[in-house]
Amino acid sequence: MHNNNKELTLSAPLSGPVLTLVDVPDPVFASGAMGDGIAIDPLNDTLHAPCAGVVVHVARTGHAVTLRADNGAELLLHLGLDTVELQGQGFSMLVKEGARVANGEPLLRYDLDQVAQQCKSLVSLMILTNSQDFQVRAITLKSVKVGEPLLHIIRRHPMGAQAEVDVPGEEIHGHIRIAHRGGLHARPAALIRQTAQGFKSKSRLHFGGKSATCDSLIGLMGLAVGEHDEVQVSCQGPDAEAAVQAILAALSTALAEDSHAMAPTPIAQHKRAAEAGVLHGVCAAPGLVGGPMFRLNAISLPVDAGNHDPEQQLQALDTARNQVRSEIDSTLARAKKHKNTAEEAIFAAHLALLEDPALLDAANRSIDQGMAATHAWCRSIDAQCEVLQQLGSPLLAERANDLCDLKQRLLRALLGETWHYDVPAGAIVAAHELTPSDLLQLSAQGVAGLCMVEGGATSHVAILARGKGLPCLVALGATLLDQQQGQSVVLDADGGRLEWMPGSARLAEVRQAQLDHQQRRAAQQTQAHTPALTRDGVQIEVAANVASSTEAADALANGADGVGLLRTEFLFVDRNTAPDEEEQRLAYQAVLDAMGDKSVIIRTIDVGGDKQLDYLPLPAEANPVLGLRGIRMAQIRPELLDQQLRALLHVCPLARCRILLPMVTEVDELLHIRQRLDALCTELELTQRPELGVMIEVPAAALLAEQLAEHADFLSIGTNDLSQYTLAMDRDHAGLASRVDALHPALLRLIAQTCAGAAVHHRWVGVCGALASDPLATPVLIGLGVSELSVSPVQIGEIKDRVRHLDAAECRRFSQDLLKLSSAAAVRRACHQQWPLS
Ligand code: PEP
Ligand code: MG
Repeated sequence: MHNNNKELTLSAPLSGPVLTLVDVPDPVFASGAMGDGIAIDPLNDTLHAPCAGVVVHVARTGHAVTLRADNGAELLLHLGLDTVELQGQGFSMLVKEGARVANGEPLLRYDLDQVAQQCKSLVSLMILTNSQDFQVRAITLKSVKVGEPLLHIIRRHPMGAQAEVDVPGEEIHGHIRIAHRGGLHARPAALIRQTAQGFKSKSRLHFGGKSATCDSLIGLMGLAVGEHDEVQVSCQGPDAEAAVQAILAALSTALAEDSHAMAPTPIAQHKRAAEAGVLHGVCAAPGLVGGPMFRLNAISLPVDAGNHDPEQQLQALDTARNQVRSEIDSTLARAKKHKNTAEEAIFAAHLALLEDPALLDAANRSIDQGMAATHAWCRSIDAQCEVLQQLGSPLLAERANDLCDLKQRLLRALLGETWHYDVPAGAIVAAHELTPSDLLQLSAQGVAGLCMVEGGATSHVAILARGKGLPCLVALGATLLDQQQGQSVVLDADGGRLEWMPGSARLAEVRQAQLDHQQRRAAQQTQAHTPALTRDGVQIEVAANVASSTEAADALANGADGVGLLRTEFLFVDRNTAPDEEEQRLAYQAVLDAMGDKSVIIRTIDVGGDKQLDYLPLPAEANPVLGLRGIRMAQIRPELLDQQLRALLHVCPLARCRILLPMVTEVDELLHIRQRLDALCTELELTQRPELGVMIEVPAAALLAEQLAEHADFLSIGTNDLSQYTLAMDRDHAGLASRVDALHPALLRLIAQTCAGAAVHHRWVGVCGALASDPLATPVLIGLGVSELSVSPVQIGEIKDRVRHLDAAECRRFSQDLLKLSSAAAVRRACHQQWPLS
């Protein structure tokens, strides 16, 4: 029954003129999504077997049949285009599923006139649906008669490498209705593929007279199976029975959150009344700017001259795919760790698309013809996007989006260093989600603002955007990327609005507001170097959050009274080896040197949770944000903390250096580090140890502030994590971004309790989380007893100016009332009324 022939010549199944696939007036077939093959415009009325084989599938509507040749080639013979709609009229099938047929044997007869009159085209196809395993070469492109040699196919792999094809086994069939909402789009298709790959048997899905191997996501999606459509499954191999059952189960079990997992719609959007021409998002960095929109998902490639060396280009494509694969792998690992099943499903689908034989075959074919890998990959993806768009299902945009996403990722990898954003200065950049390195590049190019489909207001990208003074909106939803390139928009980050149809009057108004703002900033800047005292004489130290000595120098130039938080983990990202003690000392010393005579608070390394360092792999955690992060690392890697403390003890003058411990939850943690520090001081023969502070970023620490203050020199409130842990909301969650608000009365109560606890021991309290940079919060924090605000360097002048307009006694009185309010929104409203922003 099986032979080991690598090569097989297929004879013409019909008589008539021969067409290549690209000339077939059907986007699915023409794109090669179903596989490579050939077409005939038939003049006869009977379809014949192109080779000996087994009939593995017969279309219910009698217009198509699939044969498996003895060398494993699977041939879909499809009569006419859109003939499934004839519902069997005019067709008579001459063979049954499972039958063995000889080369040339008649398979189906049809009424030439009737079918020709009722269908779109009689052009019929012979498609090698598992063409990833074969090379296909047309023998002739002229007219043929039944039985004449038409197509030559050669296996790509030796027979031994295709064990699953060689194991004949039984062929089992089944049928079921699709339960997946919207049909077989990317994620359900990926699920089917994954299920099928768990078995040795070869599995196929048949629908509407077409058939696709379950190995190909594109093939499966190209079947355009809708919700509640009935599909057939066929599996052949040693475990066919189990495979059929598993695939049927996967097809009939709807995915959770099917409708919105691909394109999460932020809660912020649901909650607001729709406003024409406005997208609502969450403010990640304040500001109001107007300018042309620049979408980052559009990479335009130069014209390709062709004549590339296929070997080199294939190699380049391979390398880029490896890079993207490992990127997606780590996203997947993170999603798994965070139990983010929606994200996991999306990226599993992307990973499958990256391996998709239909996509790769098409790209490889273009490369074989001398095309550059970049262009070949784009062409392959664009063709598939077009297929999906022309299938006319409402889910097509979603599927095409996934492909576009992958196109961009791979292009980035292929273009590597040679590709960079070419964004005009003053543009407002729209992107799905920016990474910290994107942000740095964009800011250097002078963009005016940023908006993202996803993202959270307390993410590190948001922190960076605030640091750069770049207005930024996050969680705007997927429609952001539907807006036209270059159109004028207004980004009102404070109001959480992106206006995408501003009139000229509005644009002029925004320009004027920008100018006023700049003038105000300039005026504030002239006063930035003097201390900030409230109207009634209370001095508030306005320090800066920095991540490097360059930023520290910037902060000093902007008038910072000191560094309130140096996030040491950011000094050593993007490297494979840990910095040794001396390297660390130099880095800390550089920050101290950059700050003149001001003091610098250096936080010990805070990894774990969302912050990972390549050189410091931490154990996988089921729930990393609640795991071994921050100071808890001392538990598993005490030598690393010792090394950092040693480096810190070597800076000079030591009196200007204060050490801050992240994620402390109980007094013992502080006592332990204090003892270590004392021991190291003795070892180094130091007479004085630096001040030691504790971050208040978990509710437990806020509630124990009094006990902590007894042993700490100062407390610094990390409102980013304190919000996350108090509100039980992920600080990077796009859907919750509008609600992770540190002005929540519950947080204000914790801040009040922290200040009260510190006051018992005459310790000072600072705030180094993002709330300190929010001018609306300045009076509240002063009122609750905070005396140091560590803010983004660009906001020093602004916050000092704000302080100078406040009366501390009035702040104290009014803040007490805020504690009794019921929500963050209510607090914000009250603050706006009591202390309007200029
Ligand atoms: C905080 O949690 O508020 C904080 C300042 O620390 P980080 O943002 O680095 O976690
Ligand atoms: Mg923190």
